[in-house]
Amino acid sequence: MKSNDPPYLPPLRFAWPDGHRCAAMLCFDVDGETTALSESPLFARRRTLMSQCEYGPRVGVPRLLGLLRHLAVPATFFVPGYIAEQHPRMLEAIVAHGHEIGLHGYLHEKLASLTETAEEEILVRTLELLTRLTGVRPAGYRAPWFETNPWTAELLARHGLAYDASEMGDDVPYMHPNGLVEIPGQWLLEDWEQFAFNADPAWGFVPENCAKVHDLWWREFEAMHDFGCCFVLTVHPWLSGRPSRVRLLEEIVRGMQAKGGVWFARGGELAEYVRAHPAARREIDFDRPTLTAP
Ligand SMILES: [Zn+2]
Repeated sequence: MKSNDPPYLPPLRFAWPDGHRCAAMLCFDVDGETTALSESPLFARRRTLMSQCEYGPRVGVPRLLGLLRHLAVPATFFVPGYIAEQHPRMLEAIVAHGHEIGLHGYLHEKLASLTETAEEEILVRTLELLTRLTGVRPAGYRAPWFETNPWTAELLARHGLAYDASEMGDDVPYMHPNGLVEIPGQWLLEDWEQFAFNADPAWGFVPENCAKVHDLWWREFEAMHDFGCCFVLTVHPWLSGRPSRVRLLEEIVRGMQAKGGVWFARGGELAEYVRAHPAARREIDFDRPTLTAP
């Protein structure tokens, strides 16, 4: 494009509250030791591996809570039941800081390996557990590994959840036919692909330079801001609780705040707004019956 050509600016995908141009949901998946233990209970004997995972709840979460308070932004923490049991005071601290706690399996189970009955049993057990430990009934769910089964949305609605944040079918929220709100994410806005590394089990690739990741996330944010999308950023405290990455997150959020027009919301608030304002979403899929002009 020539330098004086106007940029492509389609109509905003969503009418966000109070005239905001876009929404942002900051997600912290506190997987801790569960990523390893769900692969094999024998990993419990591997102290370096376990300690790397424990760094998330023990060091990453306290530091990230401090950053969020410093920036005055709310966030959503998805916590496996096992981690909640092992770190009850960490859980209390997340709630005390005003953030939302969502479900994330018990031991970070891969849903594709579970029957519907087993998946429901884990859902019921973790709902009860997190409600008891936090005093608040969780409103949302993030599937471990972001992967759901065909029946997952039905199970979540049946047990009173307001939203799921596991699918990747759009860049603004949508409703499942049963009324469950979906707040979709994407692998581009995830820190595992950028920062995860472990020799054995073989996880991740080469830990990326924060400057490259800043460029990756910032370009997506700026375009999502232009297009009226929902910026769902997902990071793991064992990865993004490391000092240089805390700085990266600080730069990204500061940049978003400076740009303006961003509604920083917890998952439950987003779901509530989406449910209350079904006309806020602008359809652009040619094959949906409620199509408005592209
Ligand atoms: Zn996870």
